Amino acid sequence: MQSEVVPVYLWAPEEEGQFQPGRCSRWWLAHSLAALDADLHALGSRLLCFRTPDSSATLVALARQLGAGAVLFNHLFDPISMVRDNEVKATLGTAGLFCQSFNADILREPWEVLDKGGKPFTCYDAFWTAHCGLPYPPTPPLQLPGALLTVSAEVEAAAAAAGAVPLAKLGIMSADEEMSNAHLGHHWIPGSADAHRALDAFVRGSRLRSFDADRAKTDRASTSRLSPHIHYGEISVRHIYYVAKHQELEWGRAGEGGTSVADFLRQLGYREYSRYLSFHFPFTHERSLLEHLRAVPWTYDQRLFKAWRQGCTGYPLVDAAMREVWVTGWMHNRMRVVAASFMVKNLLLPWQWGLKHYWDALLDADLECDALGWQYVAGCMADAHEFSYTIDHSVEAKRFDPEGQYVRRWLPVLARLPAQYIHEPWSAPESVLADAGVELGVNYPFPVISVEDSLAALNAANAVVKQCMRGGAGTAAAAGAAGGVAPQGPFRPATDADPAEAERLFAEHYRNSMMVSDPPAAPQASPGSEDVQSNLVLRGDGASGDDVTSAALPPGGAHSCWAGPAVPAASGAVDDGSSGAGWAAPPLPEQLPEGRQQQGSAAPAALPEQLAWQALATSPPHGSAGGSGGLGGSGAGSGPATMTGVSLGVVPSLSGGAVAAVPQAAPRLRVRRQPDSGSAEQQQQQQQERHAPPHPQATNEAQQVVSPRADGAADTVQQPFRATSTVSAPEVGTAAPPPAEQQPPDLQAGHKRARACSPTPT
Ligand SMILES: Cc1cc2nc3c(=O)[nH]c(=O)nc-3n(C[C@H](O)[C@H](O)[C@H](O)COP(=O)(O)OP(=O)(O)OC[C@H]3O[C@@H](n4cnc5c(N)ncnc54)[C@H](O)[C@@H]3O)c2cc1C
Repeated sequence: MQSEVVPVYLWAPEEEGQFQPGRCSRWWLAHSLAALDADLHALGSRLLCFRTPDSSATLVALARQLGAGAVLFNHLFDPISMVRDNEVKATLGTAGLFCQSFNADILREPWEVLDKGGKPFTCYDAFWTAHCGLPYPPTPPLQLPGALLTVSAEVEAAAAAAGAVPLAKLGIMSADEEMSNAHLGHHWIPGSADAHRALDAFVRGSRLRSFDADRAKTDRASTSRLSPHIHYGEISVRHIYYVAKHQELEWGRAGEGGTSVADFLRQLGYREYSRYLSFHFPFTHERSLLEHLRAVPWTYDQRLFKAWRQGCTGYPLVDAAMREVWVTGWMHNRMRVVAASFMVKNLLLPWQWGLKHYWDALLDADLECDALGWQYVAGCMADAHEFSYTIDHSVEAKRFDPEGQYVRRWLPVLARLPAQYIHEPWSAPESVLADAGVELGVNYPFPVISVEDSLAALNAANAVVKQCMRGGAGTAAAAGAAGGVAPQGPFRPATDADPAEAERLFAEHYRNSMMVSDPPAAPQASPGSEDVQSNLVLRGDGASGDDVTSAALPPGGAHSCWAGPAVPAASGAVDDGSSGAGWAAPPLPEQLPEGRQQQGSAAPAALPEQLAWQALATSPPHGSAGGSGGLGGSGAGSGPATMTGVSLGVVPSLSGGAVAAVPQAAPRLRVRRQPDSGSAEQQQQQQQERHAPPHPQATNEAQQVVSPRADGAADTVQQPFRATSTVSAPEVGTAAPPPAEQQPPDLQAGHKRARACSPTPT
């Protein structure tokens, strides 16, 4: 009997929880699927699409309708997909269907690259050296098949009976969104054909050749711009790897090329590393890898967050970067770093907020890369800059945008300023501003915070963090007392800070580091208190899978893999949302706060992340990959498998998310000048007071933030990561001029104190 492979795409946004793709990402997805369908048609096949709230159920129903014997797909490495994929495997297995997943997303499976002790690396250099040093090359990409078997009319009828819908009816984007996203089509062409064209232009043109010298330049096209294509599997990283290697060989023979190819592959290596970390430390997208940095006393200032998102901070380089994202859905890595660093270090806003914003706004939104970038910028990794490190924005501007071309392009309001002032309009004389048509506080904001103030706040926060540097000691002691195993991980060494004080501070601030949950109503959360989050269970290091109930641990002293039966958030359990997948860790019965007793037992017996993790970790290295994948990942490095009977090649489902609004006019923002902040201790005290009780009523509802539009109407921005009251937009054009004491500060002094070098890979 001849085998038949039916390519299937499932659109199941509900399964992605709060990490449904944002507006730009969905635009890409919709067009990418259309391109994939066209490619399949050219080969004689077609894509069958399903809109479903439950992938497993739909696949079982479809397989039954078709009489299919196997379901094949490419697996992913973010915890949400791992949970979903594992559930699919379990359900299909129970239904008697053969199910296998393959790796087409990265060069090496995460379990292939381990240190001598069999543990995962926690520094990029060591990881990449080991990755490159493996004694076998990455699996080469498969050839595109010349033709595929036609999807017969019977199969189409059976699929329709199982709920198949036309691609256009999937509802990935509404008609309004399609219209408001139309401008993205001026910058990008989704689909495999253009991905290969982009790679070709990058390699054959001058960009790869000068990559080592120019990749950080933001005033020109200097990088490959392949990230959205790669994210949606339109081009295989294996293909890119071998094309680059081939070029290296050619240039090597001619004595050219320098370190460009190695540098480029190193960038791809960061992508590998992001999956690697996400696999071994599945909380990477929500919690700091360095434990003590989970206790940073963030400001949680919604007004500053909004100014940052809308590109209205008064710092041109940052604002230009944020405006570029609004317009194109993309920005250069250096700009991602600059903008992210400003948000975290200058505005002292939690990096998880920034991660979520990038996730919602970027075309190439990719959970693992996003998390890696933010962890680096915030100093949460063993090989990142210290938390206290800040970028000197004026130095940064001179290095990467010396003539202000980048700023001129994305902030036309400043375009007529001379290069000397373009990065610091507040320092320009009145006459220069007038000649350039710049009215600070009217058509371009004053800086929302002075460098001095932001540095003072950062120092105060750093003092808290320093006291929380326990090197895992507290956690280890607590875990040991419980007869458990201490978590392993990239913790910093302990300081000589008073351990009790460190413990208290950590407990006080830890919950603030959660992405969605509210800071504690009273700051004295402690072990054994009614802390709904203390049900988090440790997984030691990724390899061992040892779990230790954290009942005996200080809050937050845990690698936060959920364990214990997990229940859907909707079932009445307390959802702190930090699972990111709509799953909540149910409190242990004895710890349930009053009035929050768990209703019923809707819990599946399995632990989603844990099972997914174990399922992947225990699959034989390469055994499952085997080099022949299904059509998952849009054929990234894999072709259709040949099996007896009908097989379903499943393209991993991705889904839709928040709608964001493009700011049309710069709201008036005034310089934030803090009153004399006093001694370091006083500052610290103020910091702590600011953070303690900011959210009296906790709800799990998404928050609506009103953003201003030029026409006076209000757009709402879904902002599902904190539950607070509505924040109104800074008024457009109605604010009074800033009082004398709020005139732009002398920012030079602060700049001099900052050092200039990159906190993240560029
Ligand atoms: C705060 C922050 C958030 C980020 N969020 C994302 C994201 O959501 N999605 C995303 O794809 N990248 C993200 N990155 C990484 C990086 O900025 C982009 O991958 C890169 O800018 C894409 O441009 P390019 O394709 O021209 O990259 P090139 O320099 O040409 O590199 C080629 C490929 O390597 C990978 N790559 C390059 N740099 C990195 C890096 N630092 N980390 C991980 N992979 C990398 C990408 O797949 C990229 O397409 C983020 C970086 C930071 C600092």
